[in-house]
Amino acid sequence: MGRSVRERLVVPPGTPAGLAGRDPSGTPGVRSRKAAERETAKLQERLADLQERLYAERARSLLLVLQGMDTSGKDGAIKHAFASLSPSGTKVTSFKAPTEVELRHHFLWRIRKTVPEPGQVGIFNRSHYEDVVVVRVKRLAPRTVWSKRFAEINAFEERLAREGTTLVKVFLHISPDEQRERLLARLEDPSKRWKFNPGDLDDRARWARFRTAYEEALTRCSTEAAPWYVVPADRNWYRNWAISGLLVETLEDLAPAYPTPELDLAALRNRLEGSIAED
Ligand code: AMP
Ligand code: MG
Repeated sequence: MGRSVRERLVVPPGTPAGLAGRDPSGTPGVRSRKAAERETAKLQERLADLQERLYAERARSLLLVLQGMDTSGKDGAIKHAFASLSPSGTKVTSFKAPTEVELRHHFLWRIRKTVPEPGQVGIFNRSHYEDVVVVRVKRLAPRTVWSKRFAEINAFEERLAREGTTLVKVFLHISPDEQRERLLARLEDPSKRWKFNPGDLDDRARWARFRTAYEEALTRCSTEAAPWYVVPADRNWYRNWAISGLLVETLEDLAPAYPTPELDLAALRNRLEGSIAED
C-alpha cells in the first residue's frame, strides 16, 4: 500500500511546516502526468458519489479552505473541484479585504456567517488565515493583535470539527519563478489580462515576509482537529490530483450514507398507481 495523499502532504501537528524544504514543483505520490490525470478522473467520480451521500445525509459538512499567493491556483482548484461537485450542495465564499462593517466586528464574524450547513461542501477562497498573514505582512494590525489570533483560530476550528464540520485546509505552494510566469501570462494574454492586479506586484515584492507569515500560521494552526496540507502547486495537474485525493480520503473517513427511511413500499406503490385524479 502506498501512503495516502494526506500522509504525504500534511503538516504534522506540533512540527514546523518546513515550507523551504517542500518543493513547489514536486509531485509526491505520482509517477507521471498521464497517470495522475487518469487517477484524477477516477477520484472525481468517487468525489461525486461521496458528496451526494453527504448531501442526502444532511448531518455533517466539509469545508475546503484554500490559501496561497496570487496566481497559486485557488480559482483553478475551485473550477476543477466543481467539475465533480453538485452546485446544489456546494457554496464558494471569496474573502477580500474586510469592509468597514466587517472591520468593526471580531475577525471571525464574517467567517462564522458562512460556514457550511449540514450536508454542504463549503469552499473558502482565502479565509480567516488572511488575518494572520496579510494583516501581519502589511502591518494592518499590531503584533499584539494578530499574534493572539492563532489560538483563537485553533479554538474556533476545534469547535467547528466537534460540531460536525470537517476542515480540509490547503496551502497552494508555488515558487516565485512560477508566479512570474503566470503574472506575465496574465499581462500578455488578452483573455487573462482582466485578472492582472498591479497590487499583486506589491505582494510579490514581499515574498519573503509572506513566506515567514505562512510558515508560522501553518505551523501553529495545523492541529489534530484541523490539519494543514501543503500542496505543491507549480503544476496544475498535480494540484488537481492532490486536492481530489485529499477530499476523497477525508470523505471516505466520514463514510456518509444514504438515509434509509422506513416506508411502506407496497402501500406507497399502490397509492402511486391509483394516484391520477379522474374527472
Ligand atoms: P484576490 O483573492 O486576489 O481577489 O484578492 C483579495 C485580496 O483581499 C487579497 O489581496 C487579500 O490579501 C485581501 N484580503 C483578504 N482577506 C483580508 C483580510 N482579512 N485583511 C486584509 N486583506 C485581506
Ligand atoms: Mg490579488
